[in-house]
Amino acid sequence: MLLNGTSPPTYHLRKASVRAAHLFEEAGEGRVRCGACERRCLIPNGGKGFCGTRYNVDSQLYTITYGSISSISINPIEKKPLYHYWPGSRALTIGTWGCNFTCPWCQNYDISKKKPTQTDEIIEPKALVRLAEVERCQGISFSFNEPTMLLEYALDVFPLAKKRGLYCHYVSNGYMSADALRLLVEAGMDAIKVDVKGGEQVVKRFCGASPTPIWRNIGLAKELGLHVEVVLLLIPNVNDNIDEVKEVARRVRDTAGEDTPLHITRFYPAYKMINTSPTPLSTLEAAVEEARKEGLNYVYIGNVVGHDYENTRCPTCRTLLIERYGFTLTRYTITPDKKCPKCGESIPIIGEPLRTIE
Ligand code: SF4
Ligand code: SF4
Repeated sequence: MLLNGTSPPTYHLRKASVRAAHLFEEAGEGRVRCGACERRCLIPNGGKGFCGTRYNVDSQLYTITYGSISSISINPIEKKPLYHYWPGSRALTIGTWGCNFTCPWCQNYDISKKKPTQTDEIIEPKALVRLAEVERCQGISFSFNEPTMLLEYALDVFPLAKKRGLYCHYVSNGYMSADALRLLVEAGMDAIKVDVKGGEQVVKRFCGASPTPIWRNIGLAKELGLHVEVVLLLIPNVNDNIDEVKEVARRVRDTAGEDTPLHITRFYPAYKMINTSPTPLSTLEAAVEEARKEGLNYVYIGNVVGHDYENTRCPTCRTLLIERYGFTLTRYTITPDKKCPKCGESIPIIGEPLRTIE
């Protein structure tokens, strides 16, 4: 992929958010091939990659978004959503600018579609970890826009966070390269939520990408020992065909296992799809039920506060195990040895519940 024409101006990078990129190779005639994500942009000297976060200066690749934080907040882990990982905990959550996808429904388009720029206003990794501790968070989450845009920063933050006993995770479209995923795991990443977008045609047409690396990364993440949860944002007339939902459910089951949580979440109008209606509740409910029939044990509805399908039930006896109201835990009955209190079925939950409200 040749970007920005063939003779771009030389770009001078000097600010604090500029750092050498980790994954790239020289590709001749001054060009470099970026290896952070599966776009694998071929970037001419003086040019930048598709996402706008990476520049080629004299055949060296640089990120311009290191520590450049567009958004920061403290979120319940249920908001990621991660339902089977330290339920009730709080994650210091950050994002930067830019994205490697083109989703027209993007809820975070104000940062994902904004042109990244170099800046001196960065949060150093140590300061970010300190902030997480001061705010009494249990972990750090890279989210909002695609966190692969912060790869180099994550590789510095995660080891520091792990030393302080914090968990680290990505809320991602899953399109990083396998090398990037391995580096993140080596640095201390514990968990990943992957938004798979839909079937092959949806990913190609709307996101400008291929689904193959996404599913490869879901399998690789499991192999590397990460906790994995999957999201399917169900959008009217885009990916709400029930056969497509069933296909996604089968792929989750076959790639990551029947105990992998699948969140089927409600679309709300945003960005270029401001005139599309929210997903009908009946469509979401039917999708959850069909996904369960494909053999997944934990299928949830998302973005519908107070719905019974927000709750975790025992896959064997249907006992209510975790009750949620939006992002709040209201009941937790799994035994300390992670079993259903009624039938003894093992329940795959990592960590202990925090801040349960009875
Ligand atoms: S991170 Fe992806 S989109 Fe950005 S320059 Fe690298 S290959 Fe291209
Ligand atoms: S991958 Fe996420 S951040 Fe990027 S455009 Fe799509 S919805 Fe927005």
